[in-house]
Amino acid sequence: MTDPTLVPPESAVPSESASPQGSFDPHALPPLREVIARFGLDARKALGQNFLLDLNLTGRIARSANLPPGTTAVEVGPGPGGLTRALLATDAVKVIAIERDRRFIEALQDVVEAARGRLAIVEADALTVDPEQLAPAPRAVVANLPYNVATPLLLGWLARIEAYVSLTLMFQKEVADRLVAKPGSKAYGRLSVITQWRSEARVLFNLPPRAFTPPPKVESTVVHLTPRIGAEPADWRAVEQVTAAAFGQRRKMLRQSLKSLGNAEALLEETGIAPTARAEEIDVAGFAALARAFRARNPLEPPR
Ligand code: SAM
Repeated sequence: MTDPTLVPPESAVPSESASPQGSFDPHALPPLREVIARFGLDARKALGQNFLLDLNLTGRIARSANLPPGTTAVEVGPGPGGLTRALLATDAVKVIAIERDRRFIEALQDVVEAARGRLAIVEADALTVDPEQLAPAPRAVVANLPYNVATPLLLGWLARIEAYVSLTLMFQKEVADRLVAKPGSKAYGRLSVITQWRSEARVLFNLPPRAFTPPPKVESTVVHLTPRIGAEPADWRAVEQVTAAAFGQRRKMLRQSLKSLGNAEALLEETGIAPTARAEEIDVAGFAALARAFRARNPLEPPR
């Protein structure tokens, strides 16, 4: 048997013996509750472990990703493998699942074997892994994310969104609301600006706590994100800095909140934004303009 915990990038290319896509039956393997009992996989809160054990539900999530044939799906946190099985039943040419908790690696062996070359498990902290190094294009991320690291993971993928066909991700509903919030709403903030600058983000559906084992305290939401064509040109770091300053003091007028960036009045004048406006009134195009003006006044050091 090959060692499933160490997957060199070249093994991301499916082998000739790979089972045909779509012919994988998620129900043909032992029920997930049985797998959990057999391997003693009690859920660990610190790793955001809330499992989806209903294969109809994981099938719904996998299908909602709408993966074009030939896509390599990257999953973060396969856990006992409910969503992994469902992804193997889609047109994904290969599934690469990154799991930090070693207990699941052994438990997923049955799925690795049944997938006949289409599933690779990587034992790693997803925060330290670049999916572009693991999966050839076209690639997509599909995951029921561990909530404690969901936002940093999303920001990492958004910074390189053009490298992905799509991201289909489960978040706590409160985070999903922020991703798609519009100017003027309470949920509108840095995460809304950065997400909507780089991607088209769409809420697909909500899931109640009882859909998970154990149930989390909050509702969950599946969001589908695709690269945004025609995103305003701006430097990633500059957008981060401008939005951090503006929303760091969201109740203050921009002429005050942007002071930490240098000449706030000049930035606002150059971009035609009222100095008395507040962060929550400024749309994505406005923040991109502020970021460009900021970068023009604070050029990046050329690489040595
Ligand atoms: N996909 C499974 C499902 O839907 O039932 C499990 C989802 S559970 C919400 C999150 C999973 O992510 C767990 O398996 C957990 O061990 C794993 N995980 C947590 N932090 C991680 C990290 N930094 N890198 C990779 N996996 C992580």
